[in-house]
Amino acid sequence: MSATLSALQARASAFTALRRDIHQHPEIGFQEFRTSDLVAERLKQWGYEVTRGLGGTGVVGQLKRGSGARKLGLRADMDALPIQETTGLPHASCHEGLMHACGHDGHTAMLLAAAEHLAKSTTFDGTLNLIFQPAEESLGGARKMMEDGLFDRFPCDAIFAMHNLPGFRPGQLLLREGATMASSENIVVHIEGKGGHGAMPHLSADPVVAGSAIVMGLQTIVSRNVPPLHMAVITVGSFQSGVSNNVIPQNATLKLSVRALDRGVRELLRNRIVELVELQAKSYGVTAQVEFLPGYPVLVNTTTETTIAREVAVALVGADNVVLQTEPLTASEDFAYMLDQVPGSYLFIGNGDADNGGHGACMVHNPNYDFEDRNIPVGAAFWVALTERFLA
Ligand SMILES: [Zn+2]
Ligand SMILES: [Zn+2]
Repeated sequence: MSATLSALQARASAFTALRRDIHQHPEIGFQEFRTSDLVAERLKQWGYEVTRGLGGTGVVGQLKRGSGARKLGLRADMDALPIQETTGLPHASCHEGLMHACGHDGHTAMLLAAAEHLAKSTTFDGTLNLIFQPAEESLGGARKMMEDGLFDRFPCDAIFAMHNLPGFRPGQLLLREGATMASSENIVVHIEGKGGHGAMPHLSADPVVAGSAIVMGLQTIVSRNVPPLHMAVITVGSFQSGVSNNVIPQNATLKLSVRALDRGVRELLRNRIVELVELQAKSYGVTAQVEFLPGYPVLVNTTTETTIAREVAVALVGADNVVLQTEPLTASEDFAYMLDQVPGSYLFIGNGDADNGGHGACMVHNPNYDFEDRNIPVGAAFWVALTERFLA
């Protein structure tokens, strides 16, 4: 075991307690007041220059050493989810209807454990920026921090982030070069017809029939327009219209979730959805508008930075505990915004599998999920080793 890892193992109980404290007090996106206070206080205590207010509750801790010009960014997310926890654990959420069901409590604890070690026990040469972001879950906290000048005020040559991943052994590190998490588009289709009596359909323009044709037509985009070797998902998760048996409604609304792992496929999906919806609507004598809500881009890990992360991972936990080119995920992640601007890599740490059982094997966003505390020293040691390597 490396000296860094054993030093962090020795601090494991303190940071497990900290993680469980954050778990007990989950806060929804942009409301991470207690969590960001805690993060800022600790960072100040260890000598970091702390900046608050980026993206509302975001925190950046900066530590400079030596005269090196290199600048590294490490990012953790702090927000919880609107889920009622069912784990029954002693450290379960004490906030009704809110829960750390994605392990962001653990990501925050891992980066704080690394922050303490880096401030007290390590020499490096350059600038370290620790980025604690709000509102990763669907609200685009990363984008908000960038709009507030994150990379103008804290330029980084490279950025890295880590997410836990149930289904893999605790402490196992999983990396991937290239597209790793899908883009996500939230789209609303507003269909305007002409309401009327259910007995006289010829006097109306029925948005239910038009909407049904649009739902079926959308299925052909993935099967007929997307190249077969590319992945794409179009899910119509909501179709709302009408309230009564004998009334043809005036409107219908469809809500879509759209995913891709390639920037070109993402554009193709956006364009084809608009074309198909408008022309299908026309053919049924109704009108339709396609509204794009803010989405997430494809998360693309750059080659050079992923190679560095891989070498650090193998040196730290051994090749047997590193998955080199893990499968991409169809979920999305707003660290993708940061990677659109700065080279870097987003990796995973196993949170438990069937053999290792417990709440950590449960998928994220499940009410029975919990972050695996054995990951804290490993994840923190990875951040320390990566910093020592990048800012050597
Ligand atoms: Zn999540
Ligand atoms: Zn998450």
